[in-house]
Amino acid sequence: MKKIFNTIIATLTLSALLLAGCGSAPQSEGGTLNILASTTFLADIAQNVAGDRVQVESLLPVGADPHAYQAAPSDVSKIAESDVLILNGVEYEHFIEPLLENAGGERLIIEATTGLTPHQMEEHAAEAESGTDHEHEAGDPHMWLDPNLVITYVENIRDGLSKADPDGAETYAANAEAYIAQLKALDSFIMEQVQSIPAERRLLVTNHEALGYFAERYGFEIVDTILPSFSSEASASAQEIAAAVDAVKNSGAPAIFLGEVENADLANQIASETGVKVVNTLYLESLTDGAPAPTYIDMMKHNVTEIANGLK
Ligand SMILES: [Zn+2]
Repeated sequence: MKKIFNTIIATLTLSALLLAGCGSAPQSEGGTLNILASTTFLADIAQNVAGDRVQVESLLPVGADPHAYQAAPSDVSKIAESDVLILNGVEYEHFIEPLLENAGGERLIIEATTGLTPHQMEEHAAEAESGTDHEHEAGDPHMWLDPNLVITYVENIRDGLSKADPDGAETYAANAEAYIAQLKALDSFIMEQVQSIPAERRLLVTNHEALGYFAERYGFEIVDTILPSFSSEASASAQEIAAAVDAVKNSGAPAIFLGEVENADLANQIASETGVKVVNTLYLESLTDGAPAPTYIDMMKHNVTEIANGLK
C-alpha cells in the first residue's frame, strides 16, 4: 500500500487535464461516440446508463488490479480514440496521466466520484502528521463498494454522457433512474444479508483497506490489525507469516478476507495455524468473465454473500 500511495503522490493532479478536457467535449450522435471507462465495474455501471444507445469499453481487462496496473502501449491508442473517458477519480487511476499526455487530443473526462467526500486513508493520515503530504491527500478511492455512493457515480455519468451526446439526454436520464432503482434494491439485499450475521461478529479483517465505505454503510468494524500485504508474486518470510497469524488470532474475527489476487498457499497456511476461515474470493476491483461477478451488482451480491457466510 505504501508504495502504491507514493506512486500516486508522485503524479501530478489530474485537475488541470480535466479542465483542458471539459468544455471542448466532442458532440456527436450516441452511436458514434467512443466511450471508455478505466476499469470493468465502471464500464458496467456506465453501460447501464448508456443502455442500447452506445457501447462502453473498459480500458483495463477483467482481473487487472488498478492499484498495480502497468499500462500497455495499446492503452494509449484506446485513449486517443475515445470521446469520453470515465474515471473513478480520487487518484484511483494512478496510471492514467502519462497515457493522457501520450494520447493527446481532447475528450470529455467524467470523474464518477465528483461531489463525494473521500475518507482519508490511514497511511495518508500518518504522512500528513509528519507534514510531508498535505497537497496530494486524495483519500480512499473505494467508494463503489457502497452502492449508495454509486448513485452519485450514475448521476455524474448521466450528466457527462448527456453533455457529450445531448440528443441522448432523455435516454440517459431514464436509464439512470432505472439503474438507481436497482442500486437501491441492492442496498436492501446487502442490509438483509448483514442482518443474518450476529452483530458481534460483524468484523472485517483484510489485507487491503478497500472496505471502509462498505463497513461504514452496513455497520461492520474494520479490525485494526491490517495483515501484511502479500502480492501474488512476493513470497512471505516466516516472520511475516508469524506476524499475520498473530494478527488474525488477536483480532477475534471468525474469518479473514483477502482479495482475489492473493496467494492461496499463504491464505491456507494462515487458516491452518489459526483455525480462522480464510475467504479469498471477494471481487473488489474487477468483474469476472461470467460467474460469479459479471456485473457490478452481481459482484456486490457475491461479496456480501461471501462475507455473510464467512462470519455467520
Ligand atoms: Zn483497492
